Amino acid sequence: MGSEKDPRIIVHLCFLTVFLFSTFLTWREALVLKNTYEVNQQIRLTTVAVTLDRQFQFSLDALGFYRSMLSYALTSPIDSDNSRQAARLFDQQRNNPVWRLNLNTQRSLPLNGLSDSWIKHYPVLNRDNPQRLRDELSAALEFSFILQFSDPERDFQTRTWYLSRGGFYVSSTPPLNDNDVLESYRGMIQRDYFTFMHPDNNPQRQHYWTPVYNGLLNEGATVTVTVPVDSGHYWYGVLAMDFSREAIHRQLQRALQQKHQGVVLLYDHQLNVLASSDMQLGISGHALSASEKQQLQAALQQGVRGELRFGTRFVTWDKLRGFNGVIVNIQTLHEGLKGDAGRIVLVLILMWLVFSLILLGSHYAITRLITQMMRLQNKLEWRANYDGLTRLYNRAAFFDLCEHSAAQCQRSGRPLALIQMDIDFFKSVNDNYGHHAGDLALSHAACIITQSLRKMDIAGRVGGEEFCLLLPETHLQDAVAIAERLRQKLAQKELLVSSDKTLKLTASFGVASSEEQGDYQPASLQSLADGRLYKAKQSGRNRVCWQS
Ligand code: GH3
Ligand code: MG
Ligand code: MG
Repeated sequence: MGSEKDPRIIVHLCFLTVFLFSTFLTWREALVLKNTYEVNQQIRLTTVAVTLDRQFQFSLDALGFYRSMLSYALTSPIDSDNSRQAARLFDQQRNNPVWRLNLNTQRSLPLNGLSDSWIKHYPVLNRDNPQRLRDELSAALEFSFILQFSDPERDFQTRTWYLSRGGFYVSSTPPLNDNDVLESYRGMIQRDYFTFMHPDNNPQRQHYWTPVYNGLLNEGATVTVTVPVDSGHYWYGVLAMDFSREAIHRQLQRALQQKHQGVVLLYDHQLNVLASSDMQLGISGHALSASEKQQLQAALQQGVRGELRFGTRFVTWDKLRGFNGVIVNIQTLHEGLKGDAGRIVLVLILMWLVFSLILLGSHYAITRLITQMMRLQNKLEWRANYDGLTRLYNRAAFFDLCEHSAAQCQRSGRPLALIQMDIDFFKSVNDNYGHHAGDLALSHAACIITQSLRKMDIAGRVGGEEFCLLLPETHLQDAVAIAERLRQKLAQKELLVSSDKTLKLTASFGVASSEEQGDYQPASLQSLADGRLYKAKQSGRNRVCWQS
């Protein structure tokens, strides 16, 4: 009885499997979407990076062209009227504190220079070789002529200039006054972009990008790229291009084109913000914290592009090739969820939630149903085997159990005894005190029987007020003693039937044993015991009879 496995365990397992499986599938799907999102983010940023790169590359190509042109002009100087005039004018003005060499042509920019005595203060400056100086003046004038063809409205670079170690410079943005010349030249020769071009510092003769800095002429935040100009193993000066923050910002906005989710920033190699799709957030430095910048800096050492996660923000980065910096896209979780992949993820999570809730609901309903069924089954089982009033076995269950126990005793050759008991004058209990009192008396008698049972004994209610006890491995005389004890106990105990009434019950007993006729059949033993019970009734009740 009740030894089968609980069917709810299988239900739990089935639901758990379905739940885990659906969660796993949702998770896989979310991972695919996450990868798609990340790839899309990277592709978008790379598109912006390529567009920006192209702009920088145009300028770098132009710088390369100017450099070649200057080197060529220095190697093969032209002996023209212009160059002779320039040399003459230079010789006249070279001792002025500030001078400007403006040829009488319509298409050339002025050379802006300082005096011989001024440049003596700076060992890196040199005007000692007259031929070299003449060649350089001639080349610089040619350069200034070509520079006139650049279009400041259309060009990405805001300024192109050549800074000579001979104490002069030429710029696509000519200085406003003498003081401007002095300040600009003095400032420029002390900056890293000039000092780094010294052959000792830059033996590879590479170009150099500055970090973002504030220009001398109120042009605001700027970055500059410089290349050295050499000829015949002599370092003449530095060719440079400036890019203002505004110009870079304009290019960035053009590159972004469509409305962009998140903020896109262009950083220089020291991770100072150059431009941003959201200038307020970008320039004020709120976009990335110092520690986040450190992590980005570390990531930059690893490759040319990548992604990072800062809390709930997703960051993609891509190094530019035409500029010494990195473009970064920062997208918050909120912005990410607004995108296509984000929306699908939300729907997916919602579907998973609904599915899980339905699963949970059905699991609850099914387990509840099974629990109720099991409870009912147990109740029915109990009712089929037990007597509801006395909680002893009913007649059918008693004899079923007895069969099994009797067979065991017979196999082992042990004695088997049976006691039949009937309450005396029970009808009068009902008559005098009512049926409820009769029921109480029956429970009372059953309770006394149960208390005196051993573990192996079996007791049942076999009739209205008749009880039967099967005692395995018990000799007849022992069974008689047990019956006698039961009789005394019952007769001694008073039963409270109502608040002011008590009664004492007696019962008659018939005892039989397998030892008498070698018959182990419970029905035969009961029949024998019942005969003796009848005899006990006949001889005055409240007694035990074990003889026929
Ligand atoms: P005796 O000493 O000869 O056995 O007399 P008795 O009155 O006990 O014998 P009898 O067989 O005439 O009466 C049995 C009575 O038990 C009849 C019936 O009303 C009562 N009875 C049987 N089952 C129940 C029950 O479940 N509850 C109650 N209250 N009475 C029951
Ligand atoms: Mg009776
Ligand atoms: Mg009876």
